[in-house]
Amino acid sequence: MQSRVRELAGQISEEYRDLDPVVIAVLKGSFIFVADIIRHLEFPLTTEFMRVSSYGNQVVTTGEVKLELDIASSVANRHILLVEDIVDTGLTLEYLKANLEVRRPASLKVCALLHKPSNNVKISNLEFVGFNIPNEFVVGFGLDYQGYYRNLPYIAQLELTG
Ligand code: 5GP
Repeated sequence: MQSRVRELAGQISEEYRDLDPVVIAVLKGSFIFVADIIRHLEFPLTTEFMRVSSYGNQVVTTGEVKLELDIASSVANRHILLVEDIVDTGLTLEYLKANLEVRRPASLKVCALLHKPSNNVKISNLEFVGFNIPNEFVVGFGLDYQGYYRNLPYIAQLELTG
């Protein structure tokens, strides 16, 4: 995980070094990833947080996205890097991008730790992706199942019984 995080940070640095970006983390799942990645970014940036709910406590998508926490400052004319834990159907990302685009940022790009390409119903541009993974439910490195497992220092596939 750490070597891939460093590689992504390298790509992000090349692009954002002189842009004074605002890094927006999508809570809660991306809190570990964003904390790791921004500590490799050695240039000025600000951080903001958004929280959306899409799954409740379920492992399958409801298709509904609700904004539960908004960013605290204006992003007009700022270069936004949106950091997601995982892109599955892409519906959450689509919602967030539409929500942020109307605030007229200078640019808006996405960094996702994990991507399940087989499940995409909304094909969004993902500029920075840590790992493409199969269509399995995973936990760890910030990702949860019913609030648990976020503290695992690795990504694990959850075996659902019953
Ligand atoms: P999407 O809208 O792309 O279908 O779903 C994105 C959100 O669903 C993610 O931000 C994450 O909260 C949740 N999600 C999707 N797949 C998984 C998974 O395999 N494990 C966990 N823990 N959450 C997931």
